[in-house]
Amino acid sequence: MPSYDVIIIGSGPGGYVCAIRCAQLGLKTACVEGRETLGGTCLNIGCIPSKALLHATQMLHEAQHTFAAMGLTGDAPDVDWPKMLAYKNDVIAQNTKGIEFLFKKNKIDWLKGWASIPEAGKVKVGDDTHDARHIVIATGSEVSPLAGVDIDEKIVVSSEGALELDRIPKRLVVIGAGVIGLELGSVYARLGTKVTAIEYLDAITPGMDAEVQRQFQKILAKQGIDFVMGAAVQGVDRTDGGANARYKLRADGSDHTIEADTVLVATGRRPFTGGLGLDALGIATTDRGQIVTDDRWATNVDGIHAIGDAIAGPMLAHKAEDEGMAVAEVLAGKHGHVNYGVIPGVIYTHPEVATVGATEEQLKEAGHAYKTGKFSFMGNGRAKANFAADGFVKILADAETDRILGAHIIGPMAGDLIHEICVAMEFGAAAQDLAMTCHAHPTYSEAVREAALACGDGAIHA
Ligand SMILES: Cc1cc2nc3c(=O)[nH]c(=O)nc-3n(C[C@H](O)[C@H](O)[C@H](O)COP(=O)(O)OP(=O)(O)OC[C@H]3O[C@@H](n4cnc5c(N)ncnc54)[C@H](O)[C@@H]3O)c2cc1C
Repeated sequence: MPSYDVIIIGSGPGGYVCAIRCAQLGLKTACVEGRETLGGTCLNIGCIPSKALLHATQMLHEAQHTFAAMGLTGDAPDVDWPKMLAYKNDVIAQNTKGIEFLFKKNKIDWLKGWASIPEAGKVKVGDDTHDARHIVIATGSEVSPLAGVDIDEKIVVSSEGALELDRIPKRLVVIGAGVIGLELGSVYARLGTKVTAIEYLDAITPGMDAEVQRQFQKILAKQGIDFVMGAAVQGVDRTDGGANARYKLRADGSDHTIEADTVLVATGRRPFTGGLGLDALGIATTDRGQIVTDDRWATNVDGIHAIGDAIAGPMLAHKAEDEGMAVAEVLAGKHGHVNYGVIPGVIYTHPEVATVGATEEQLKEAGHAYKTGKFSFMGNGRAKANFAADGFVKILADAETDRILGAHIIGPMAGDLIHEICVAMEFGAAAQDLAMTCHAHPTYSEAVREAALACGDGAIHA
């Protein structure tokens, strides 16, 4: 058996990016993956397939709702569901094969199978035990179970089954109005499914800026998604060909039942570390199952690091990637760094929602004096031309220094627009720095500049 400088367990965005950076830094590297294909949750059953279906169904929505207004007449296309799923699967294959290519190019060994760690410095895959100076655990996450709900991935599904349904359901109940539930709910709503989202809390997308939450819920309701808020799901019972979801309204304790053809459980994910042997190794975990790491991603056992969804922090692909690069640099004797204060979060619905840094609620709670610059896409010429004027850009800046503290966007291409604000925040920029930067006309990004101007003497087109 060759011995390695680094063996990474898991080939999701944390693991594969870590492997590539380790190899680039001259470390002899292997990556273990138990799935048939590389790329983890993100490429196989997460970010990429969900975005493919969001893209395809948004095209349909445009054809049905905006084409005629632009003088593009004719019938909107029919949906060939098996073909749409085949397109999604092809996108997955292209991406996972791309990682295989990058592994070969960087001379990274792919060790196929499920790994365990019999002791520090050793990784067991099947019957083979490999030596490694460093081990990086990047095993990701799995769906959290919900009491009273049995997932069969046919009628009662997790996000994984929802990406692979054998037919388009007439009625879909989504348990949990978070990012994954709303993205997949949007996919089916656009395909004509009656979608009802049941949420325990009183606001959708917990943790987001409250003004964005309100506007987002209104827009989704206009798109046909029903919301039952403040409702605790008690259980899901299978019926003939469908399922009933039972819930209790928190406000008055009343019990209700809703019928569905498909129920999507989207109440969250938890770290996946089963089978690694963490207990026997004495690796510390939190009560939520996250591996405890220090600020250099080291666990409490020498030679073993951990990154991505398996540790604390937002469960996002780009957070895992950044940690993957940073830990590789640490292992190569360099200085790895992740700025956890500037990790954007994006919801790929239409319109998109994007957020970075502090929310108004967090600043108020911290007693931090701040000012708000807000600009509606109604004042953006490009957005109006493209039927995309729903939403706004909001920038929060320090009341005294004008330094940008956070930004929240709901609107067209929000997931791309947020990055100029991320870069500005990385450089410790003031809102005025953005406001003084010339932005091309006509672009959606002018709305970002206008929000920055609104932090000072005022937006022009408001
Ligand atoms: C439906 C859905 C949509 C999402 N959309 C987005 C999005 O748009 N943007 C975003 O940023 N995030 C999104 N996410 C979250 C994102 O997928 C995760 O945050 C990300 O994949 C975490 O990366 P990771 O490398 O930590 O783990 P993972 O991607 O989960 O990869 C871990 C890999 O490790 C393997 N593994 C586990 N244990 C072992 C073992 N013992 N031996 C060998 N292999 C093992 C697993 O098979 C898996 O392939 C989405 C998630 C879902 C479910």
